[in-house]
Amino acid sequence: KSGFVAIIGRPNVGKSTLLNRIVGEKIAIMSDKAQTTRNKIQGIYTTDDAQVVFIDTPGVHKPQNSLGDFMVKSAFSALHEADAIWFVVDASMARGRGDDFIIDRLQEVKNTPIYLLINKVDLLAPNDLLDVIASYQNDAPEWAEVFPISATEGDNVPELLDNIVSHL
Ligand code: GDP
Ligand code: MG
Repeated sequence: KSGFVAIIGRPNVGKSTLLNRIVGEKIAIMSDKAQTTRNKIQGIYTTDDAQVVFIDTPGVHKPQNSLGDFMVKSAFSALHEADAIWFVVDASMARGRGDDFIIDRLQEVKNTPIYLLINKVDLLAPNDLLDVIASYQNDAPEWAEVFPISATEGDNVPELLDNIVSHL
Protein backbone atom coordinates (compact mmCIF):
# COMPACT_ATOMS: atom_id res chain seq x y z
CA LYS A 1 0.00 0.00 0.00
CA SER A 2 1.20 3.48 -0.72
CA GLY A 3 -0.30 6.92 -0.90
CA PHE A 4 0.14 10.61 -0.67
CA VAL A 5 -1.26 12.80 2.12
CA ALA A 6 -1.36 16.60 1.97
CA ILE A 7 -1.31 18.34 5.36
CA ILE A 8 -2.95 21.74 5.35
CA GLY A 9 -3.94 24.27 7.94
CA ARG A 10 -3.33 27.85 8.88
CA PRO A 11 0.02 28.79 10.42
CA ASN A 12 0.86 27.58 13.95
CA VAL A 13 -1.78 24.86 14.23
CA GLY A 14 0.98 22.23 14.54
CA LYS A 15 1.43 20.78 11.04
CA SER A 16 5.24 20.61 11.25
CA THR A 17 5.09 19.19 14.77
CA LEU A 18 2.75 16.43 13.59
CA LEU A 19 4.87 15.67 10.54
CA ASN A 20 8.04 15.56 12.62
CA ARG A 21 6.40 13.17 15.07
CA ILE A 22 5.23 10.88 12.29
CA VAL A 23 8.41 10.85 10.26
CA GLY A 24 10.58 10.85 13.35
CA GLU A 25 13.13 13.40 12.31
CA LYS A 26 13.29 17.14 12.05
CA ILE A 27 12.52 17.56 8.40
CA ALA A 28 10.07 20.41 8.65
CA ILE A 29 11.07 23.83 9.89
CA MET A 30 9.49 24.52 13.24
CA SER A 31 8.89 27.89 14.82
CA ASP A 32 6.49 29.73 17.02
CA LYS A 33 6.29 32.36 14.32
CA ALA A 34 3.68 32.10 11.61
CA GLN A 35 4.53 31.17 8.06
CA THR A 36 8.05 29.90 8.50
CA THR A 37 7.42 26.74 6.53
CA ARG A 38 8.34 28.06 3.12
CA ASN A 39 8.48 24.89 1.11
CA LYS A 40 6.52 21.77 0.57
CA ILE A 41 8.74 19.34 2.44
CA GLN A 42 8.12 15.65 2.04
CA GLY A 43 8.30 13.10 4.77
CA ILE A 44 7.75 9.39 4.30
CA TYR A 45 6.15 7.12 6.88
CA THR A 46 6.99 3.50 6.22
CA THR A 47 5.68 0.32 7.81
CA ASP A 48 6.00 -3.33 6.76
CA ASP A 49 3.04 -3.04 4.44
CA ALA A 50 2.57 0.66 3.74
CA GLN A 51 4.33 3.77 2.61
CA VAL A 52 2.73 7.18 3.11
CA VAL A 53 4.26 10.30 1.60
CA PHE A 54 3.42 13.58 3.36
CA ILE A 55 3.54 17.12 2.11
CA ASP A 56 3.62 19.98 4.59
CA THR A 57 2.16 23.04 2.91
CA PRO A 58 3.52 26.58 3.20
CA GLY A 59 1.64 28.85 5.56
CA VAL A 60 -1.66 29.17 3.81
CA HIS A 61 -3.28 32.53 4.23
CA LYS A 62 -5.29 34.99 2.27
CA PRO A 63 -2.75 36.33 -0.25
CA GLN A 64 -1.75 40.00 0.10
CA ASN A 65 0.38 40.21 -3.05
CA SER A 66 1.45 38.19 -6.09
CA LEU A 67 4.19 36.27 -4.23
CA GLY A 68 1.69 35.36 -1.55
CA ASP A 69 -0.74 34.44 -4.27
CA PHE A 70 1.85 32.14 -5.86
CA MET A 71 2.66 30.48 -2.55
CA VAL A 72 -0.97 29.90 -1.76
CA LYS A 73 -1.60 28.43 -5.21
CA SER A 74 1.37 26.10 -4.84
CA ALA A 75 0.05 25.00 -1.47
CA PHE A 76 -3.39 24.25 -2.82
CA SER A 77 -2.05 22.49 -5.92
CA ALA A 78 -0.85 19.67 -3.65
CA LEU A 79 -4.45 19.01 -2.64
CA HIS A 80 -5.42 17.78 -6.07
CA GLU A 81 -2.56 15.28 -6.21
CA ALA A 82 -3.31 13.80 -2.79
CA ASP A 83 -4.98 10.51 -1.91
CA ALA A 84 -6.15 12.11 1.31
CA ILE A 85 -6.04 15.55 2.90
CA TRP A 86 -5.41 16.24 6.56
CA PHE A 87 -6.85 19.60 7.54
CA VAL A 88 -5.31 20.58 10.88
CA VAL A 89 -6.95 23.06 13.26
CA ASP A 90 -5.98 24.38 16.69
CA ALA A 91 -8.35 23.21 19.43
CA SER A 92 -7.23 26.03 21.70
CA MET A 93 -8.42 28.76 19.35
CA ALA A 94 -11.83 29.45 17.88
CA ARG A 95 -12.40 28.77 14.20
CA GLY A 96 -11.33 31.93 12.43
CA ARG A 97 -10.95 33.58 9.06
CA GLY A 98 -7.72 31.71 8.36
CA ASP A 99 -9.53 28.41 8.84
CA ASP A 100 -12.50 29.59 6.79
CA PHE A 101 -10.26 30.60 3.89
CA ILE A 102 -8.86 27.07 3.70
CA ILE A 103 -12.27 25.47 4.23
CA ASP A 104 -13.61 27.41 1.25
CA ARG A 105 -10.81 25.95 -0.89
CA LEU A 106 -11.44 22.47 0.51
CA GLN A 107 -15.07 22.73 -0.57
CA GLU A 108 -13.78 22.74 -4.17
CA VAL A 109 -11.91 19.43 -3.75
CA LYS A 110 -13.86 16.46 -5.03
CA ASN A 111 -13.35 12.73 -4.49
CA THR A 112 -10.54 13.06 -1.96
CA PRO A 113 -11.18 12.11 1.67
CA ILE A 114 -10.59 15.10 3.94
CA TYR A 115 -9.75 14.42 7.57
CA LEU A 116 -10.40 17.04 10.25
CA LEU A 117 -7.52 16.87 12.74
CA ILE A 118 -8.28 18.79 15.92
CA ASN A 119 -4.78 19.35 17.28
CA LYS A 120 -3.59 20.57 20.69
CA VAL A 121 -6.33 18.74 22.57
CA ASP A 122 -3.90 18.69 25.50
CA LEU A 123 -4.81 22.38 25.93
CA LEU A 124 -8.53 21.67 25.98
CA ALA A 125 -10.88 20.80 28.82
CA PRO A 126 -12.37 17.41 27.89
CA ASN A 127 -15.91 18.79 28.01
CA ASP A 128 -15.08 21.37 25.34
CA LEU A 129 -14.09 18.91 22.62
CA LEU A 130 -17.59 18.34 21.27
CA ASP A 131 -18.16 22.08 20.90
CA VAL A 132 -14.90 22.45 18.99
CA ILE A 133 -15.83 19.61 16.65
CA ALA A 134 -19.30 21.09 16.15
CA SER A 135 -17.81 24.46 15.20
CA TYR A 136 -16.21 22.82 12.15
CA GLN A 137 -19.36 21.10 10.89
CA ASN A 138 -21.18 24.08 9.39
CA ASP A 139 -20.12 25.61 6.06
CA ALA A 140 -17.53 22.88 5.68
CA PRO A 141 -16.98 19.74 3.61
CA GLU A 142 -18.20 16.43 4.97
CA TRP A 143 -15.17 15.20 6.91
CA ALA A 144 -14.11 11.66 6.06
CA GLU A 145 -12.79 11.31 9.62
CA VAL A 146 -12.51 13.54 12.68
CA PHE A 147 -9.46 12.94 14.91
CA PRO A 148 -8.73 14.87 18.10
CA ILE A 149 -4.95 14.68 18.48
CA SER A 150 -2.00 16.18 20.29
CA ALA A 151 1.03 16.43 18.03
CA THR A 152 3.30 17.29 20.96
CA GLU A 153 2.00 14.55 23.30
CA GLY A 154 1.32 12.00 20.58
CA ASP A 155 -2.26 11.42 21.70
CA ASN A 156 -4.29 9.53 19.06
CA VAL A 157 -1.49 9.78 16.48
CA PRO A 158 -0.92 5.99 16.24
CA GLU A 159 -4.67 5.54 15.66
CA LEU A 160 -4.59 8.25 12.99
CA LEU A 161 -1.73 6.47 11.21
CA ASP A 162 -3.51 3.12 11.35
CA ASN A 163 -6.57 4.79 9.90
CA ILE A 164 -4.79 6.48 7.00
CA VAL A 165 -2.98 3.27 6.09
CA SER A 166 -6.32 1.45 6.01
CA HIS A 167 -7.67 4.12 3.63
CA LEU A 168 -4.92 3.59 1.06
P1 GDP B 1 2.65 24.90 11.81
O1 GDP B 1 2.85 26.35 11.51
O2 GDP B 1 1.25 24.47 11.54
O3 GDP B 1 3.66 24.00 11.14
O4 GDP B 1 2.85 24.73 13.40
P2 GDP B 1 4.11 24.19 14.24
O5 GDP B 1 4.24 22.72 14.09
O6 GDP B 1 5.30 25.02 13.90
O7 GDP B 1 3.62 24.47 15.73
C1 GDP B 1 3.33 25.78 16.18
C2 GDP B 1 3.40 25.83 17.69
O8 GDP B 1 2.37 25.02 18.26
C3 GDP B 1 4.72 25.29 18.26
O9 GDP B 1 5.09 26.08 19.33
C4 GDP B 1 4.36 23.88 18.70
O10 GDP B 1 5.17 23.42 19.74
C5 GDP B 1 2.92 24.07 19.15
N1 GDP B 1 2.15 22.82 19.09
C6 GDP B 1 2.04 21.98 18.03
N2 GDP B 1 1.26 20.92 18.31
C7 GDP B 1 0.87 21.07 19.59
C8 GDP B 1 0.04 20.29 20.48
O11 GDP B 1 -0.48 19.22 20.15
N3 GDP B 1 -0.14 20.80 21.74
C9 GDP B 1 0.42 21.97 22.14
N4 GDP B 1 0.18 22.37 23.40
N5 GDP B 1 1.20 22.72 21.34
C10 GDP B 1 1.43 22.28 20.09
MG1 MG C 1 5.08 24.47 9.73
